[in-house]
Amino acid sequence: MTQPNTFKIIAMDGGAAVGKSSTSRGLAERLNLMHVDTGAHYRTLTYALLRAGADPANPEKATAALAHLKLDTALEDRSAKLSIDGTVPADADIRSPEVNAAVSGFAALPPLRTFLFEYQRSQADIARAKGFDGLIMEGRDIGSVIFPDADHRFFLHADEATRSARRAQEGQTDSIATRDQMDTTRKTAPLICPEGAIKIDTAPRTLEEVIETITRIIQP
Ligand code: C5P
Repeated sequence: MTQPNTFKIIAMDGGAAVGKSSTSRGLAERLNLMHVDTGAHYRTLTYALLRAGADPANPEKATAALAHLKLDTALEDRSAKLSIDGTVPADADIRSPEVNAAVSGFAALPPLRTFLFEYQRSQADIARAKGFDGLIMEGRDIGSVIFPDADHRFFLHADEATRSARRAQEGQTDSIATRDQMDTTRKTAPLICPEGAIKIDTAPRTLEEVIETITRIIQP
């Protein structure tokens, strides 16, 4: 007897430091999903472009530099990471103050988003081929642009004081408000809660409570 197709695609969007990564990783563990952090994709590209001497204020140079980058996927446990020219940059490198300051500028450039579109969609095939029961992808435009056809779309949010406190606890300096402002107001693929997505306020809930709430929606 053939098994019913139970492979699920889950889109997890929201602003900076709302808890997308911890929630997505927890859900991936619990539901045997492959996890993809698309914020890390933009950070990895930003890191590579800054090293190539590109600047968000000079879109031509940034676009030209993209042509020299070879993208691939490296699976680390259940998280699929973007590798460039065969290397996955260290977390400390893609979460540095320089990358924090430049990433939203690069992410607003349409050629850069087009460059990542097919790569990000193709992660579903990798998850299937590797035997996962689904894909959970987090970012800003997953439910609106990359997988508007996802089985489940969630949008996490939290007040700014809670988000800043979370980043401080992680020992990070991050311009959350500036990045959110740039991400919500850009012309291409702005950060929005897509129509039909389920909104969850993570401020009054523990991580476990958020994971439990979402699990019950995915597996009623
Ligand atoms: O998720 P994270 O905060 O690491 O994302 C870093 C930046 O990457 C965001 O501020 C945004 O500018 C960009 N981004 C994006 N689209 C996504 C994911 C991230 O534009 N899907």
